[in-house]
Amino acid sequence: MPLFLNIETLANGPVELKGQLSPEELEMETLDELVEANEPLGYDLTAERAGDNILLRGSLRMRLQCECARCLRPFVHCVELPDWSCLLPLAGEEKIELINVSADLTPYLREDTFLAFPQHPLCEAGCGETPKRTGGDGKPLKIRKASSEPGEASVWSKLDNLNLE
Ligand SMILES: [Zn+2]
Repeated sequence: MPLFLNIETLANGPVELKGQLSPEELEMETLDELVEANEPLGYDLTAERAGDNILLRGSLRMRLQCECARCLRPFVHCVELPDWSCLLPLAGEEKIELINVSADLTPYLREDTFLAFPQHPLCEAGCGETPKRTGGDGKPLKIRKASSEPGEASVWSKLDNLNLE
C-alpha cells in the first residue's frame, strides 16, 4: 500500500504510521549499477499537525544490495535514518498536493532515503587501499606482494606443488 495520510485524522492528535513500502511502490531508481534497491523501505513515523504544516518524524530503514566499487564483492548496506523528520506545508506556494483529504507521503520518504544511498559503495572502509605498514609486521605484506609479481608467483606455485607431492 502506498503511504497515504488522511490529514483530517490529525485533528485528533498525532498519528502513528508504521509499515513498509515495497520497491514497486517506491519506484526507486538507482543511478549507480553497484547499488540495487530491491527490498522494501521500512518506516516508523509519527505525523502531527504543526500550524499549517504536517510534521513527520521517525525512522526510515532500507537494505540495499551493493557491490563493492573496489573489489566487486557483493554486500548488504543498510540505509538508516533514525532521526528523520520532514515538514510538509499545507498552505502557501510550497504546499503539498492532496488527493481529497489525503497526502501521499511516499515521495518524501523516497527522496531522503535515496539521498542517503552510498555514492561509492565499499564492502569495508578502506577496501583495496594499499597497506601503509612500515617495518615490524612486514612479512604478510611481502607474501601478498610476491603473488602479484609474475616471476615471484612462479616460485610460490612451485613451492605449492612441492607441498602437494
Ligand atoms: Zn571491497
